[in-house]
Amino acid sequence: MIFWEKDIETLQRSGIHKLQVEKLNQTITIAQNSLYYDKLFKQKGIKPGTIKNIEEITKLPFTTKQDLRDHFPYGFLTVDRRDVVRLHSSSGTTGNPTVIFHTASDLKNWANLVARSLFTAGIRDTDVFQNICGYGLFTGGLGFQYGIERLGCLSIPAGAGNSLRQIKLMQDYGTTAAHAIPSYLNRLYDVFKELNLDPKRDTQLHTFVIGAEPHTEEQRRRIEEMFGVKAYNSFGLSEMNGPGVAFECTFQNGLHIWEDAFIVEIVDPETLEPVPHGEVGELVMTTLDRIAMPLIRYRTRDLTRFLPGDCPCGRTHYRLDRITGRTDDMFIVKGCNIFPMQIEGVLMKIPEAGSNYLITIENINDNDELIIQVEVKREWFSGDLAKLDNLTRLMAHKVRDEVLVKPIIKLVEPGSLPQSEGKAVRVIDKRKIL
Ligand code: AMP
Ligand code: ZN
Repeated sequence: MIFWEKDIETLQRSGIHKLQVEKLNQTITIAQNSLYYDKLFKQKGIKPGTIKNIEEITKLPFTTKQDLRDHFPYGFLTVDRRDVVRLHSSSGTTGNPTVIFHTASDLKNWANLVARSLFTAGIRDTDVFQNICGYGLFTGGLGFQYGIERLGCLSIPAGAGNSLRQIKLMQDYGTTAAHAIPSYLNRLYDVFKELNLDPKRDTQLHTFVIGAEPHTEEQRRRIEEMFGVKAYNSFGLSEMNGPGVAFECTFQNGLHIWEDAFIVEIVDPETLEPVPHGEVGELVMTTLDRIAMPLIRYRTRDLTRFLPGDCPCGRTHYRLDRITGRTDDMFIVKGCNIFPMQIEGVLMKIPEAGSNYLITIENINDNDELIIQVEVKREWFSGDLAKLDNLTRLMAHKVRDEVLVKPIIKLVEPGSLPQSEGKAVRVIDKRKIL
């Protein structure tokens, strides 16, 4: 099936804004059926029709993750529970999880967005698509599944982990495209090597869709080289359905965010005022198609910016820069603000550095220390870590140039750092544990 919704995907700005205002007022009508928004709108005098032009969205209050948690589980639900057919929820190890409910029409709209996104990244119904991620409450499993089917690919719902089986599936069915979390693909590549297989030679893979966790351009290029594929960045969050929110097109120059389905703002996380177009700030999103649980001006905590210029693909929906991290990812060592992706960016430019690393911040003798364990790349590893002093020094030097704090680099053997099946844990702040 051709999934190029041309009229929508190439709407001019004025057309996008007109559509958004119309859908926003409908969304306000729907949202007032929830306990949460009903009370809030009454307090603030917000009614359907309040918004006359898109700039007036700033009249509406923000919604935060804490609001979702405080009104767990049904405070945001707008419909009778009979009409809800699925929920997805965050793992929530502490406190209430974040839960999102969907009607059947919500799920249909979501599947369409995922199908549109995959098509945008060049995937076609002739592809055999292996979905390598957890099925269940995590949205990457079922979210992609329905989109792949809507597009008409042969889908392989492989689930997460079990690399030997993933490779066998790829070979048995001639997988051409796959979705996975980037940190997992490094592990998968190691298993190919252990089996004396080369994904370039021994599979038919040509496209990966990678997302769900922050990763750098360098990490993407490494994945492309290892597997001989094009890897497209996919961004989503469960509060906005999951995957299918923003996706790279084949030009790989930022992620088109679907503005017929979401209103997208970027604000200063401190002042909450919109930042000038093109500057980095916190992504704020409003759903425009959701029935069971619309969210208005939801603060995602993700940091990004709008990219300037038109995209040669012809799609007019704004492009987001790769997400550099979350407002809550940042940590401070010796007075310097540091994002894990700054460190990843430096490490991945060093050919001898493997793709897996772990940052620990620890107070040693009353000093906060930045300790970075880095796996040595398998191809470069001689079996003797002691011989790598020069490499250790080079890494420390380059990281310090970037983040202004001298780290303690500890090189470790390939494959020795912990691997999670889901999103990678990149930072352990021991100061917070004590
Ligand atoms: P979840 O709702 O548990 O799936 O988590 C969503 C969060 O994962 C987002 O808010 C981002 O912080 C992160 N995320 C998802 N996709 C990407 C991506 N492509 N790049 C960077 N971070 C991402
Ligand atoms: Zn494009």
